[in-house]
Amino acid sequence: MRRKKQRLALACSAVLLSAGMLAPTYDSLVKANPASSIMEKPPVSGFISHDELTQKLDQIEQTSQGNVEVEVAGYSNQGREIYKATIGSGDKVAFIQSEIHGNEKVGTKALLDMIKQIGSNNSPEMRQLREELTIVAMPMINPDATELNRRGNEMTWDEVTSAFPQLQTAEPSWNYYTYKNQYWDYESNPGFDVNRDFNPDLNYTPQPEDFPGSSSEPGWYITPESQTVRDVYKDLQDQFGTVDVFVDLHHQGEYVIDGTDDPVTLSLSGVFVPHPDTEEGEKYSEYADQYNVDFSKQLNVAAYDALQQMGNSPFGNISLYPQDLDLPGTALGSFALNGSGTVIFEITGQTQDFGQKKMGQLNKAVKNGLYGILNSFATGKVHDLDVERYDDIPLTDR
Ligand SMILES: [Zn+2]
Repeated sequence: MRRKKQRLALACSAVLLSAGMLAPTYDSLVKANPASSIMEKPPVSGFISHDELTQKLDQIEQTSQGNVEVEVAGYSNQGREIYKATIGSGDKVAFIQSEIHGNEKVGTKALLDMIKQIGSNNSPEMRQLREELTIVAMPMINPDATELNRRGNEMTWDEVTSAFPQLQTAEPSWNYYTYKNQYWDYESNPGFDVNRDFNPDLNYTPQPEDFPGSSSEPGWYITPESQTVRDVYKDLQDQFGTVDVFVDLHHQGEYVIDGTDDPVTLSLSGVFVPHPDTEEGEKYSEYADQYNVDFSKQLNVAAYDALQQMGNSPFGNISLYPQDLDLPGTALGSFALNGSGTVIFEITGQTQDFGQKKMGQLNKAVKNGLYGILNSFATGKVHDLDVERYDDIPLTDR
């Protein structure tokens, strides 16, 4: 692993920051709190580090008898490899990524387990997945954030303006973190929320007038991490026409199912921008023909059904994420507008307060939901699912 540089986060000293410096997001935000030092976070050693990811992917590829191909798709801002594992030879495409936020780690474990299982297991179910689908998995697409166990990548605005000299006069983007709170010190080690750096125009190049932007406007592909994911997506479009399915694995705070005391295991959603055919979504009208929210909803129902089949609590405690989002700068928002059926998994508990609690159980839930999606997509049954059932998934109590 190459590192261009290493910075030590400064603990303690001055305090600043107001809640307004943290932009609205999906996932829960850490509340700004004028604490005087960086808090001790719960241990996360049970999760996968970037070095372990490198070793495990290599092992999986070696033992897969040609079923799994692992490539370096690009490099993070600090020079770490961003990997892409491809399994299967079908003409339907499912693209799954994890850990765009480095404090949201269960998805990477689940994805690695699945790459191994789908690539090496010869059960009829796994063979069918390999024959019908091309599965492209990108675990840990923001490895610098993973290593720092935080949301943002590790990159300064100066680095952006040297890569894009046309931005010398622009204001730093709204998703540039320079704050310090009880959890993180972006003040001495800034970074960007990579999951606001996407743009539905996959060929967009940054223009100064589009900064600082906002959560309801597209991003700019200024980070190497979003550029890498975008490039993989475009390659798949060139190869297959449409990237049929895109799943993004996240974590959220701790919630209960609406109207109950049952803690949410994970939340699902397939809606990240207002529909291009509505007044609110009119700004996306150029994408109206390819936007396919009904297919996104069917994919979510497929995941939900698979999880419900695991029985009652905790696997049955699945909720629907808030539906009134307008987040075109997220990978999900941008790719949905490009015609992908989209699903987010919002797993309970980010690492700064939840650590690796319930890691095994949550991993199992994520895998079951993902297999629900992949199986129904491979068999074609997903197209028979009743779109309306999406709205029967209970909401999260927030
Ligand atoms: Zn997230």
